Amino acid sequence: MDLKVMNGLLTPKSVAIIGASSTPGKIGHTVVKNLIESEYEGSIYPVNLKADEILGIKCYASISDIPGEVDAAILTIPAKFVLDSIKECGEKGVKGLIVITSGFSEVGEKELEEELVEIAHSYGMRILGPNIVGVLSNSDKFNGSFAPFLPLKGNSSLVSQSGALLIGIDAATFMRGVGFDKLISIGNMSDVSFADTIEWLDQDDKTKCISLYIEGFKEGRRVIEVSQKATKPIIGLKSGISAHGAAAAASHTGSLAGAAKIYEAAFKQAGIIWADDLNNLFDRTLALSLQPPMKGDNLLIITNGGGVGVLATDAAEKFGIPLKFAPEDVQAELKKHMPVFGSAKNPVDLTGMAGTEWYGDSVKYAIQHPWVDGLVVLYCETAMTDPLEIAKGIKNAIVESGVTDKPVTISYVGGEKSEEAMRWLVESGIPAYGAPDLAINAIAALREFALNKENNKIKTVDTKGIDKQKALAVIEKARANGRDALTEIEAKQVFEAYQLPVTHSKVATSEDEAVKLAKEIGFPVVMKIVSPQILHKSDAGGVKVNIKDEEGVRSAYQLILQNAKNYKADADIHGILVQEMAPMGTEVILGSVNDATFGPTVMFGLGGIFVEVLKDVTFRVAPFSKKQALEMISEIKGAPILQGVRGELPRDVDALADAICKYAFMMLDLADEVSESDANPVLVYEKGEGLKVVDARVILKKK
Ligand code: ADP
Ligand code: MG
Repeated sequence: MDLKVMNGLLTPKSVAIIGASSTPGKIGHTVVKNLIESEYEGSIYPVNLKADEILGIKCYASISDIPGEVDAAILTIPAKFVLDSIKECGEKGVKGLIVITSGFSEVGEKELEEELVEIAHSYGMRILGPNIVGVLSNSDKFNGSFAPFLPLKGNSSLVSQSGALLIGIDAATFMRGVGFDKLISIGNMSDVSFADTIEWLDQDDKTKCISLYIEGFKEGRRVIEVSQKATKPIIGLKSGISAHGAAAAASHTGSLAGAAKIYEAAFKQAGIIWADDLNNLFDRTLALSLQPPMKGDNLLIITNGGGVGVLATDAAEKFGIPLKFAPEDVQAELKKHMPVFGSAKNPVDLTGMAGTEWYGDSVKYAIQHPWVDGLVVLYCETAMTDPLEIAKGIKNAIVESGVTDKPVTISYVGGEKSEEAMRWLVESGIPAYGAPDLAINAIAALREFALNKENNKIKTVDTKGIDKQKALAVIEKARANGRDALTEIEAKQVFEAYQLPVTHSKVATSEDEAVKLAKEIGFPVVMKIVSPQILHKSDAGGVKVNIKDEEGVRSAYQLILQNAKNYKADADIHGILVQEMAPMGTEVILGSVNDATFGPTVMFGLGGIFVEVLKDVTFRVAPFSKKQALEMISEIKGAPILQGVRGELPRDVDALADAICKYAFMMLDLADEVSESDANPVLVYEKGEGLKVVDARVILKKK
């Protein structure tokens, strides 16, 4: 990232408005007016062929006439004039182009947009947009947009792919009391993308939290990389998670991959905190921009009412920070600040009699206690207490405690007075919400932030013994045959090259050969059809398991051949696979798609016939660490099955995690060649006994 250029684009010291207009209501007029009204202190240069001045500011006929330097040019002229104009900008030495103008890729004018980027880059300029609202920055008093005013002041900055939503959010900041320093509209993302803005905002000292509204990343992998490196919390709201639908795919994975799950996985790996909806984006942004991360799991709740306490307890479990009872010494001390009928467990119930002092004393004590990692304070408005006084008591207690590295969030349930108290709290730097579950959800975001930072320290995969050349040779041979699907035995050779344990097998082209191979391998054996046109072998009656003797081999050989011919008369049959029969184990599936946004992405789930119905699967973008593979194994609903249920011993989860990592690495390493693959099933054995891939499928990229 060229910091000087990005600064010129996003915090310019001088701007030209190309297409500035004297006509109120035109975007070119609104932008000039906004710059004046936001009290922008840099130089403003309206560019207009005819006008001498606009809103009292001297106009220039062309950008080259401007006497001083120009950091950023804001373009509001029609699309057809943009290319000529930006050449002039380039000659002038402009650093960044804020292209408000629409009429590019969003209406199918892809080439025009590509030309725009090409010209800009040839002059070393960066482009924001096109098709955007502009850039707003409180700390620069810069409203370089056609949104009506700067947002409520705050610590966080928002990047939005939707312009209209950005304008709505701008106004909503005042209603919700959630402030922002910058609002950046990135529209078509022809050049500056989410990754660029994340990188830039992470070094912007006015931004404490990075908020994203995402319709789709253009460069998913880079977003993951820059987000992992970022030091600030990043929160994302992804829309369009339902529309993706199933991709037409030859493997199971394609139809199981949904945008929602892949984005969820990518967020996890990137360390981007998930926002469920727009409300949640506001709520969590508020907490992330005001409070420190929660560095452990010990959450303490202090309340004056049992009802909100129970609601908060439920929410704590739901959002991943289940409550534990406070240790004895904490309970004993807190008991001093409540009537005898109060409770010092967790939630700590000070009862409806709690006033400012009880709240203050218990908050101060609790936040200082080493056991406590985070605090949620709940208050129900009562006739005897004043909401604002309570708020001030809580704030004072936190200040007096001297503790600044533990988060606190608050919930008030009440009327106008409570609303007023909550506004006061937020202005004082403590996030406050109108319901207990919201306060819990907010502190859970701070917990997620801390966990993300820990997870990101872990590095990836052991590549010892991997033989890429061997895999490529198998692929080349299939390609030379004009195929883009590998047979099971070929796919397993590829898997083997990546150290994945597969069942031993050989291809027979006659009944006698099959008998010979079966004897070599040892009974019982499995026999399967080998044909590039029959990828789902059982569907064609092409699999026979548990064949115990020579006679069985002979009859299976004939039967499988016959079945295959009945299924697909013109199928090209390479022979019959004779394979070692793997002992019974727990069936799991590994799959991978080459996702359009994130590239090779791995799926894991329980196998067997239910996988497509239950969709109990989870994803990660390849590659990833063993820790993340273990996380995948534990996060599916069927996880207990692998941990051992009903007297069964636990499965070899460790070997499974290793295999998932190696499989992910394989998909990444072969990304240029392989479009999708799966291992279905993989049989997982008891702890220490490993696993076996009994079926493998690899589909090549079309070349
Ligand atoms: P397909 O998925 O193409 O129909 P598979 O090779 O997966 O064919 O075989 C179908 C089923 O037969 C598997 O799901 C598994 O239960 C069983 N099976 C296949 N190969 C073996 C083997 N080598 N050992 C034990 N069971 C096997
Ligand atoms: Mg199979």
